[in-house]
Amino acid sequence: VRHLVVVLGDQLDAESAAFDGFDPRRDRVWMAEAVGEAEYVRSHKVRLALFFSAMRHFADELKQRGRPVTYHELDPHDARSSLAGRMTADLRDWKPERVIGVEPGEHRVREDLTHAAHEAGIPVEWRSDRHFLCPREVFDDWAEGRKTFRQEHFYRMMRRRTGVLMDGEEPVGGMWNYDAENRASFGREGPPDHPSPPAYRPDAITREVLELVARRFGGHPGSLDAFAWPVTRAQALDALQRFVRERLASFGRYQDAMWTGEPYLWHSLLSSSLNLHLLRPHEVLAAATAAFRDGVVPAAAAEGFVRQILGWREYVRGIYHRFMPEYAQRNALGADRPLPEFYWTGETAMACLREAIGQTLSTGYAHHIQRLMITGLYSLLLGVRPKEIHEWYLAIYLDAVEWVELPNVLGMSQYADGGLLASKPYAAGGAYIRRMSNYCRGCRYRPDRRTGDDACPFTRLYWAFLDRHRRRLKGNPRMSLALRNLDRIPKSELREIRKARPEKR
Ligand code: FAD
Ligand code: SF4
Repeated sequence: VRHLVVVLGDQLDAESAAFDGFDPRRDRVWMAEAVGEAEYVRSHKVRLALFFSAMRHFADELKQRGRPVTYHELDPHDARSSLAGRMTADLRDWKPERVIGVEPGEHRVREDLTHAAHEAGIPVEWRSDRHFLCPREVFDDWAEGRKTFRQEHFYRMMRRRTGVLMDGEEPVGGMWNYDAENRASFGREGPPDHPSPPAYRPDAITREVLELVARRFGGHPGSLDAFAWPVTRAQALDALQRFVRERLASFGRYQDAMWTGEPYLWHSLLSSSLNLHLLRPHEVLAAATAAFRDGVVPAAAAEGFVRQILGWREYVRGIYHRFMPEYAQRNALGADRPLPEFYWTGETAMACLREAIGQTLSTGYAHHIQRLMITGLYSLLLGVRPKEIHEWYLAIYLDAVEWVELPNVLGMSQYADGGLLASKPYAAGGAYIRRMSNYCRGCRYRPDRRTGDDACPFTRLYWAFLDRHRRRLKGNPRMSLALRNLDRIPKSELREIRKARPEKR
């Protein structure tokens, strides 16, 4: 074997740089399912099934294209295989001249595989990942010399660089940002009629994987009953077309709204397909901007969606690679509480958390505001250790891969990087949740109460959070209104807020 071409579970693109110069007579693709990766965190069963099924489908596709593939399926009796261990054994047998791959997205995996190849005395060539629209050098150039790294600045640079939604040097429609039009709630009536997202019925490969996961990882959180996610490129492309045709027009407007029993609303549900590289970001952007040009969707919807893909997704990747591995250790607010057990079960009297977690256990999914302003917010206010909440997010969402999950959790939602990513903590009380959802109507607590038996835990913890971090937040002009309101709370009430214990359930 000349080249052993490594393809990881989140690199499922037959046109990726790993295959440049691939010669089927001399080269071989290498893929593996490893227990070590499945158990590194207590992964949701849906996340495991998604990865394994998509990997198996992809390996079949490569074989159909005439590329030889060595694929290690997970052995249900295997207690502890690791990716690097499996590779070491194969390097011994195959003795390739070189290991080739696209740079792994996750820092730990890159270190482990590089180490394994070096130990075997075989050179490794990691090629830069063409999937992304912002090469790492471009991000570093942009970041160099900056004290703060605001997404908005990065996003405008990317709009100019790519020409997406641009009229020469100016943004199409004259506005960079339609956020003000994109914060609608559903009022009292609830969401208007909307189409359900497409469901992809498990085929024979997926059914086999579902059985394997149920048997081997039965103790992991979550349910497989409703599994219907895209696992092939053809399905992912179909999901993209359906989203653009049926839901994009209202995506922006209801981006932040939440409603009981409505996990998907107008969201795209494309994150898992993008993160596994079944979809390429430039084709997702092309589909959305074409719909705008054809007059099918308004500017606010197109821009709101483009910002997520061209702005946030590329930006958090840049932050991850620039600051890892040190970034993962940050804990700027000194958070030191354990993660409440109900995060793994959804069994809590707090209706908003019960809904967001319960929905995630049955589907593997929650949308952005549920992640940021329900599960993330509660952990921030309580002061959960960043490492614990990070591992929960990495385990529980089907689209979780570390380069995107970690900056979102540690930086955006927990402020554990001290403001590198977000200009202020995303802290709020129950009033925000009441405004943006109907959760409070089915809750035993009252969002407007900060003390007493029926005080909303979010509201009480919000004031306790501001009180605890008053000194650190004082210098931040975006927090001054909140701190002035804190000063208006009578001393006796503040003492009661400080004394209250966190909810066990
Ligand atoms: P949509 O709402 O339809 O958005 C469209 C696309 O934009 C998404 O598919 C995604 O690719 C991208 N996007 C949107 N917001 C972000 C963001 N903040 N960062 C990066 N990309 C974004 N996203 C993940 O892909 N994996 C994660 O593990 C993950 N963990 C998160 C943890 C926390 C605490 C928070 C606050 C956000 C996290 N996100 C993560 C970002 C975002 O919540 C999800 O991408 C989104 O909810 C996925 O659903 P969707 O495809 O329906 O997205
Ligand atoms: Fe959540 Fe508080 Fe509303 Fe209950 S009252 S649903 S705990 S915000």
